[in-house]
Amino acid sequence: MMKTIISVIDGDVNTNYNREIFEKAGEVIRGGGLVAFPTETVYGLGGDALNPTASQKIYTAKGRPCDNPLIVHIYRMEDLNRVAEGVGREALKLAEMYWPGPLTMIFKKRSIVPDETTGGLDTVAVRMPDNPIALRFIEASGGFIAAPSANLSGRPSPTKAVHVAEDMNGRIDMIIDGGSSVIGLESTIVDMTGKTPMILRPGYISGEMIREALGSVDYDPAVFGEETGGIRPKAPGMKYRHYAPKGELIIVKGEQSRVIGHIREGIAAAEASGKRVGVIVASESENCYDGAPHIINIGSREDEETIARHLYSVLRECDDKDIDIIYSEDFSTPRIGQAIMNRLIKAAGHRVVEV
Ligand code: AMP
Ligand code: MG
Repeated sequence: MMKTIISVIDGDVNTNYNREIFEKAGEVIRGGGLVAFPTETVYGLGGDALNPTASQKIYTAKGRPCDNPLIVHIYRMEDLNRVAEGVGREALKLAEMYWPGPLTMIFKKRSIVPDETTGGLDTVAVRMPDNPIALRFIEASGGFIAAPSANLSGRPSPTKAVHVAEDMNGRIDMIIDGGSSVIGLESTIVDMTGKTPMILRPGYISGEMIREALGSVDYDPAVFGEETGGIRPKAPGMKYRHYAPKGELIIVKGEQSRVIGHIREGIAAAEASGKRVGVIVASESENCYDGAPHIINIGSREDEETIARHLYSVLRECDDKDIDIIYSEDFSTPRIGQAIMNRLIKAAGHRVVEV
């Protein structure tokens, strides 16, 4: 087991104290090592995107299948064309509007990007994160950081450094602690290689926002969280069970009083058989499950950004409490509800009960 250094960034990224942390992180990356770092979406597990050995190490540390490609993170616009080919006007427009930000675009890759980073694909995913710590780290590391989320494969993505430490302590060189991720869901992924931009993974930047910017947008069927029935999702990551807590998660959907009734029956039945039950609820219905021991409030339905930000830490909290069966209400909120439910349905392994 290697020793994992945990360094906390305190205040302005440019202080002398913080500068030493970035210098150290840059050294680790240039030496082929791995550093977890904060972004506005979730924590990333970074390695040198141009070094095949570093990308291989990322797969090993996560226990991730190596056909599931990584995202290349850059810190300035002029680096986009060094890794991507055929960047068109539409992509530049999206970059201008949403970079730095929670949007990943797919392009044809240039040969400088090793196959290990792209999981053998001839395309590359690129993003510029909106977090000053992430940007400084990428710059200090030479400009191209390959990163997936910094969780063990299959577990909920980390939105705090402690989540990263739970999964990665002893498996990577360094963790940069930069507080909680403000968005809390992975980036929207848009494939820019076809005629019409295609959303492969929903996120904070919605399909509607992209359609407004470019006039049209398509969706990969995997986005809707349906079993794709043998159709291969275009983002390879979408085919794996993901984000899952250790307990069995069941989403209950429908008219509110029926949802509450169904979950209450479920709680009674599970407790009668000696199981620990938890319920993920919106603040509005927090008091509707009296007697249930583990009610976890994810936030108000009026504030979907808070629901998104809390989702993964709530799933981890269920693990911390050793919960066997987790019921969740449905959080199909207006704007980012599609992204929230895409993650929750995957975490539930598609167990959704309609009442
Ligand atoms: P993560 O953020 O941990 O889910 O990891 C990166 C995600 O980006 C995975 O879901 C990948 O499937 C997706 N991805 C990375 N590169 C590509 C690519 N070239 N084409 C399609 N999806 C990609
Ligand atoms: Mg991930």
